Amino acid sequence: NPFSTLGIRHDIVNAITELGFENPTPIQEQSIPVLLSGSNDFVGLAQTGTGKTAAFGLPLLELVNENNRATQALVIAPTRELSVQITNDLERFSTSFKKLNIVTVYGGASIRDQIMKVKRGAQIIVATPGRLMDLLSRKVVDLSTIKYIVLDEADEMLNMGFKEDIDEILSTTPEEKNVWLFSATMPREVREISKNYMRNPQELTMGERNQGNENIDHQYIVVDERDKYSALKRFVDYTPD
Ligand code: AMP
Repeated sequence: NPFSTLGIRHDIVNAITELGFENPTPIQEQSIPVLLSGSNDFVGLAQTGTGKTAAFGLPLLELVNENNRATQALVIAPTRELSVQITNDLERFSTSFKKLNIVTVYGGASIRDQIMKVKRGAQIIVATPGRLMDLLSRKVVDLSTIKYIVLDEADEMLNMGFKEDIDEILSTTPEEKNVWLFSATMPREVREISKNYMRNPQELTMGERNQGNENIDHQYIVVDERDKYSALKRFVDYTPD
């Protein structure tokens, strides 16, 4: 399996082979060796569907020490759905890990359950910015031991108004951490994050800048906010494929 030659260890390669990952996608091929070195800040311009979750997830699983219960990695994503998806992917990649705890925290769900899970020890926390800030202010999450921060869909997070939260999180975590930023587009605000909080980041652009993935067909309909979910459901029912 070519993932082995990229430096991914056997038990993880076995897990992803089971998932049908036979060949790395272009972003995986290029970013995995860089991220595995554990010594670089990184900016990846990549669309959804390019395999970016595994591109950062596999190196993260290699670098985190499951025997140490301290929180070592933080993945920040704009929405609950994406956070849950990232967590599911990381769990599917790490079936051979016995002591690894990956905890997802996001708004709109019981904070007490999330607090309990974090307190049991989470080497990796996957979070939306708002709920993370809440848990930080309650001193439930301790970022002093963080070594890796992944900002996924950074442009979306800034669009959603999370700039201040992200600034605060990045400026209160240890100096010597690595920041890996993924974004589909590179507006000025995202560029500023990389300027302010990253040191000589290695930068990778997958495909055309600011272009949608060509395998994805974009359609939209305009509805009232309160009808969003039922409209989406109807849309999906109507086009099941
Ligand atoms: P992502 O861009 O991370 O959302 O990934 C898009 C989809 O591609 C997900 O369903 C992944 O499980 C799948 N995927 C990612 N990398 C590979 C790979 N190397 N081979 C096959 N499928 C992959």
